[in-house]
Amino acid sequence: MYRTLVNSIKDDENFKKCNNNFNITKEDKEKGKIECPKCHSENVIKFGFYNGIQRYKCKNEDCCKTFIDEKSNPFRYSKKFKENWEQYFELFIKGLSLRECAAKMGITLVTAFFWRHRFLADLCEKSYIKKIGSYVELTKLVLYENFKGDRGYHGEERDKIIVVNALNDYMDISSIIAGRKFLGFYEIRDNIIPRIDAKAYVVGFQDSRLKMFANALNEIRNVKLREDINELKIDLAYSNKVKKWLIKFNGVASKYLDHYLSWRAFEYKNNTEYERKNIFSMKKVYSQINVKAKISTYISWGNIKKRTIEI
Ligand SMILES: [Zn+2]
Repeated sequence: MYRTLVNSIKDDENFKKCNNNFNITKEDKEKGKIECPKCHSENVIKFGFYNGIQRYKCKNEDCCKTFIDEKSNPFRYSKKFKENWEQYFELFIKGLSLRECAAKMGITLVTAFFWRHRFLADLCEKSYIKKIGSYVELTKLVLYENFKGDRGYHGEERDKIIVVNALNDYMDISSIIAGRKFLGFYEIRDNIIPRIDAKAYVVGFQDSRLKMFANALNEIRNVKLREDINELKIDLAYSNKVKKWLIKFNGVASKYLDHYLSWRAFEYKNNTEYERKNIFSMKKVYSQINVKAKISTYISWGNIKKRTIEI
């Protein structure tokens, strides 16, 4: 069965499908090519960053203007955000609630919520891993669909949303929103396999389908467990920990679930360094996560609200 699934994958095709959850700024990027504001040439190149904002340079020899793309300028329209985001980030990263952030910053709850999601959208985009490799552990997280903040009646029935968390020995974390109601073969084919590197050794935990899938995938792809790894367990409880962590938000809207999953992964990576001292068959533990924020994408409030869960 799995062999058929794996063989039926046309990589790129399926990949697109599971990648479209990432609609941040992509929309903006697609809206129009970047053009030089002076001569309107589209012949421009990326030219470093300024305050975390992508700069461009016009390649038209008579012009050579350098400029930033206003469409991706995270600070356009919001002077308040520009002036306060660093301070806000400090509170945010400490894990203060929205209400506390709002009170300390003298902003409304709605603004605090918006700012939170601008950070998270940015974080989500930056931490996105196309294909996770090396030694990969898969665990399953099941949540009920949540319509928090959405107006209108959504019925009594709430679907289960299945997230598969993939964690590797480099501490890369890929949280894949993998299925609605259940995790079947097609969900695995369309949403999980394209996110796993062809040379990765995969281990499934807790869930029998994940276990079977992982074994089958290794066999089909003929990948063996590296000797230096040998029964290493990174964190079998990762998914359970995420579930507990989510409790403090009193439920999160499913359309923002990817934001929260990225946030959790980010926090986890920042906090686990010392907890992990006992496992040293591992490469090295990754302390270089940049806790100081650099926000380099723009997403409008409208686009944050308009999000949907893509499963
Ligand atoms: Zn130009």
